[in-house]
Amino acid sequence: MKCRVCGQEACIGLRAYNTALCADDFIFFLEKRVSTTIRKYHLIDAGDTPIVAVSGGKDSLSVWHILNRLGYPADGIYVDLGIGDYSRTSLVKITQMAEKLQRKVYVLHVRDIFEKGIDEVARAIRRVPCSACGMVKRYVMNKICIDRGYNVLITGHNLDDEAAALLGNLLYWKDEYLWKKSPSLESKDGHLSKKVKPLFLCSEREMAAYAVLSGIDYIYEECPFSVDAKSLEYKGILNKLEESSPGTKLQFIKGYLKKIKTGKEEKRDMAYCETCGYPCYGDKCNMCRLLERFHIEKGMDFDEYGGSSLDSNQTMVT
Ligand code: SF4
Ligand SMILES: [Zn+2]
Ligand SMILES: [Zn+2]
Repeated sequence: MKCRVCGQEACIGLRAYNTALCADDFIFFLEKRVSTTIRKYHLIDAGDTPIVAVSGGKDSLSVWHILNRLGYPADGIYVDLGIGDYSRTSLVKITQMAEKLQRKVYVLHVRDIFEKGIDEVARAIRRVPCSACGMVKRYVMNKICIDRGYNVLITGHNLDDEAAALLGNLLYWKDEYLWKKSPSLESKDGHLSKKVKPLFLCSEREMAAYAVLSGIDYIYEECPFSVDAKSLEYKGILNKLEESSPGTKLQFIKGYLKKIKTGKEEKRDMAYCETCGYPCYGDKCNMCRLLERFHIEKGMDFDEYGGSSLDSNQTMVT
């Protein structure tokens, strides 16, 4: 198999594009795809101050790495869920990347707030871990953006994540989420930051190849709670379709993007939390309810790693 661009030995076949590429040309191809997505969908504009939600996995570390290579300097934010070795290893990979990029990373430890890991927090409020995790992460990431002067929150969601979520929303006709899977969700009244997904059109397989070929050191293990996630089942189904009809996932998402222009978002009356001002439905946001449930009144402290103050011992700046 020869590289379609330079004729040397190819290292990856891309059936969705009916092509094969060597390492250098594949890296160029993927970064160009991200750059085009950013410009086409106005994910980051001149003067924006982006920050990346990092988990230590291949997608978030790769998007962080790509953005800095493409000339969009971005800091990072990590929510340490307090899940034993998984969280500890993730933090190591993240601080290594921060050092490599010479960028700052903010870290919030769930155990510092709740004195429990996310699984125990979830159990106490009778939710599954992913539900409590999503709630805490959404809130904390938004807070860092607003409080520290960042105006675009970048996430590493890839094509497979988006296709699986869209399939799930369609299967159960979750109308309230159906039209919200755009690569860019605009900010709201200075309370909710803009959220964007530059890897929207890059598949999981492409991102894994990119991370390996670019020497990105990421955590291979998945979060232990991901095994229960329904999205894995949907990804399996979509992979089978992709196998027999290459390009299916891309068509599914691109078709959706065309439809989205005519899709209708369900209108609900949005209010602001009477305690913290976060946009919510009702008088209090879910995070404030959660904090109340645990009788927590203290504010949130973030560790800051990296930036110009970083040294080889990862000096903590608070
Ligand atoms: S699998 Fe669930 S608990 Fe783990 S990081 Fe993802 S959303 Fe959070
Ligand atoms: Zn080549
Ligand atoms: Zn609140």
